[in-house]
Amino acid sequence: MVIRLSQLFLRTLREDPADAEVASHKLLVRAGYIRRAAPGIYTWLPLGLSVLRKVEEIIRQEMSAIGGQEVHFPALLPKEPYEATNRWTEYGEGIFRLKDRKEADYLLAPTHEEVFTLLVKDLYSSYKDLPLSLYQIQTKYRDEARPRAGLLRGREFIMKDSYSFDVDDEGLDASYAAHREAYLKIFARLGLEVVPVAATAGAMGGSKSEEFLHPTDIGEDTFVRSPGGYAANVEAVTTVVPEEIDFSNAPPAHVRNTPNTPTIETLVEASNQIAPRSEADGGAWTAADTLKNVVLAVTLPTGERQIVVLGVPGDRAVDLKRVEANIGAFLPIAGEVVLEAAGEEDLRKHPGLVKGYIGPGLTLDEPLLGLEGSTKLLYLVDPRVVSGTAWITGANLPGKHVYGLVAGRDFGWDGVIECTEVRAGDEAPDGSGPLETARGIEMGHIFQLGRKYAEALDLKVLDQNGKQVVVTMGSYGVGVTRAVAALAESNHDEKGLVWPRAVAPADIHVVAVGRGDEIFQTAEKLALELEAAGLDVMYDDRPKVSPGVKFGDAELIGVPTILAVGKGLVDGIVEIKDRRSGNAENVPVEKAVDYVVNAVRSR
Ligand code: ATP
Ligand code: MG
Repeated sequence: MVIRLSQLFLRTLREDPADAEVASHKLLVRAGYIRRAAPGIYTWLPLGLSVLRKVEEIIRQEMSAIGGQEVHFPALLPKEPYEATNRWTEYGEGIFRLKDRKEADYLLAPTHEEVFTLLVKDLYSSYKDLPLSLYQIQTKYRDEARPRAGLLRGREFIMKDSYSFDVDDEGLDASYAAHREAYLKIFARLGLEVVPVAATAGAMGGSKSEEFLHPTDIGEDTFVRSPGGYAANVEAVTTVVPEEIDFSNAPPAHVRNTPNTPTIETLVEASNQIAPRSEADGGAWTAADTLKNVVLAVTLPTGERQIVVLGVPGDRAVDLKRVEANIGAFLPIAGEVVLEAAGEEDLRKHPGLVKGYIGPGLTLDEPLLGLEGSTKLLYLVDPRVVSGTAWITGANLPGKHVYGLVAGRDFGWDGVIECTEVRAGDEAPDGSGPLETARGIEMGHIFQLGRKYAEALDLKVLDQNGKQVVVTMGSYGVGVTRAVAALAESNHDEKGLVWPRAVAPADIHVVAVGRGDEIFQTAEKLALELEAAGLDVMYDDRPKVSPGVKFGDAELIGVPTILAVGKGLVDGIVEIKDRRSGNAENVPVEKAVDYVVNAVRSR
């Protein structure tokens, strides 16, 4: 195929779009791959579609290689299946809901577990039909709170989603492992570095789950790695829990006046003045000796607002993403929640809590926090708050703190939650060394769903003994449009895009530079010969466009090899340039086709 720039529906832009912050977004718009239609919603132009199709094709091949069969579901679906699993509610504001003319409820699907489950239930009924893997490459809709960075976080986006169906856990393990391998192959073929990390299951439910993160500073996910090979999304990292301490000889807690100490910093400073600790007892007080009680307001998927108090060591910040990932177990209803610091209004409803001096209460007999306490507020603590640890914390009296308040002796809690920041240098939970942190973009996510969806929707098959068993499922996603953006993000320079060969919109960009029939005739001939050799060719045949503009566009568009036919032609020479390295070579015109074909084949 020869794409002629004189015909191509393309306008490259000199200016970055006003709403673009990251390079991939700017360049994909400027180079004419996509156009914004609405916030987080994009139109695909010919060049963009050609890259998108190549990404899709690689995914298709690898899915088919593990026995996946392609189907295609509608995006527009009735509410009922999603009601059966409660996700109609759980998704909260995250989905687009609509009504038909008969007032029946529909949604634009954010993901398709329910309808895949129902499809298999509809047609299959025996263990002999399994294992089964189905997939689709399909448009998803999510009303993201913060659509961002162009295609990276859209409200309409393309996902490859597959679902596996097995009779037993061993079967699920095998399907999961096959997908994991296929994903590693897909990303390797795309030329996209990914790190598989342990993940939390989030709104999806189920047990084992891993994400494939593409390391980049603009990523929204933070992950950790240890020298010994531990890797996890920060949301999934578990804290190394200290040993419980015998408190039978611990001194009693006592309240002190600590005026003007509403922050941890002021509290530590004041404590070292009014109640210095001896070297033998551990030396000067630090923030880690204080128990900070952070009051959060949680908006449930139903819209209800609930207050939760987190008790954490004062030297650790609360990480809202970790709270969000792990708080589900303690809430009355599953699903997406919105978290924020509780406001004055929330605190006013609980007069027992004194801002800046909040604590769990002074004795176990009269707890303030916890569902047994006078405020009846859910009280969750960081895993470091183990029985026997002693803390400086608020006394719930203005200007007063309590010293030596012992966990398990003087106060209790409703649950333990991973809720504080993970820091570089923290120990990996499997003992494989200190963690380092990095940022990444989630490119794919695989889940062992188990029987949650099959149970909710009653997907059963007859097993070998003629008994009805609930099917066990896996769900596996790749962000297809996000992959295009991530590839652009990691393959560009100040001049423009630099596509990896596997997904480039063409193999070779032939540019006719200058004037004269001979230049255009030669360029045309080379373009056709390259096409005949099996390459995808882009040919800049635009008359009366300056060499500067043509080269600028070629660099912006980012085809990996550029063949310029220009002034050198009088000496029988053309220039072949590698877009990535910038290296240019003068090649005799009669050798040009072989040279380019070799460059393309050797990648
Ligand atoms: P994120 O944490 O980034 O919001 P997610 O965990 O909600 O993603 P999944 O439900 O696991 O996403 O979806 C599978 C894949 O679809 C993700 O790994 C990601 O690559 C892609 N994806 C999810 N949301 C978006 C979006 N808003 N825009 C583009 N791609 C997305
Ligand atoms: Mg995910």
